[in-house]
Amino acid sequence: MAAVASSTPASTVRRTPLIAGNWKMNLDHLQAIAFVQKLAWSLKDAGHDFTGVEVAVFPPFTDLRSVQTLVAADKLPLAFGAQDVSEHDSGAYTGEISGAFLAQLECRYVIIGHSERRTLHAESNEQVSAKVQAALKHNLTPVICVGETAEDLETHGPSAVPVSQLRAALDGVTSAADIVVAYEPVWAIGSGQAATPDQAEQVAAQLRAVLVEVLGEDVAAKTRILYGGSVKAANIAGFMREPNVDGALVGGASLDLTEFASIVRYQKHVGS
Ligand code: PEP
Repeated sequence: MAAVASSTPASTVRRTPLIAGNWKMNLDHLQAIAFVQKLAWSLKDAGHDFTGVEVAVFPPFTDLRSVQTLVAADKLPLAFGAQDVSEHDSGAYTGEISGAFLAQLECRYVIIGHSERRTLHAESNEQVSAKVQAALKHNLTPVICVGETAEDLETHGPSAVPVSQLRAALDGVTSAADIVVAYEPVWAIGSGQAATPDQAEQVAAQLRAVLVEVLGEDVAAKTRILYGGSVKAANIAGFMREPNVDGALVGGASLDLTEFASIVRYQKHVGS
């Protein structure tokens, strides 16, 4: 796969950073209510500017109704989304969840193509692409996850696989009002061994170049590219200094309220 030139204009546009917590299969709906309430309060108490750094949580499906009700009732400035979506709208698909249902629950986002779904559920690039289309159809913002395994890294270098996964995910997408891309090297997820900010930036720049090529300069310029993989309060600052990294998708550390709030407040503890 030929390297893609990075796009300077798109990489210099100001984008609102997004710090997103992927809870995976953790926290039931009662725990979710308590967690979201405490998170919002602790960020508000700390004077967090939610318009300056957006915060989103991705609870399990069974928590979404509770989170929606809480966010609406208490007018919490938090976004939320689902961890997956069906490529189908309705029908005989046992266990699947339609984008229409997620939209009814006021989800803003949906994670698509997380490496755990690609590996544990054999999700193909074609399915990822169909799910992206389904999300867009229901006005959900897809958080498209791409990333290379340690073996890919060894064989192809860091960007070839993420670039080809993003191209495949965007297949058939002609215009997208809002998408988010999450670069998550599989070897960094849950390993405690994050990529370096420089590694993340290099791949993010290649991904932005794909966005320019497929969706045009304007969409590419406003699309947020997140880094994910062993992000914590101690390393978030380095990633956020990179011009093409616009936030983080946080797994394990998003379940620790103090740690996650500290990641969200990275500007305060790094002085950036
Ligand atoms: C993830 O699963 O999306 C992730 C980034 O996990 P962790 O932060 O635990 O590495």
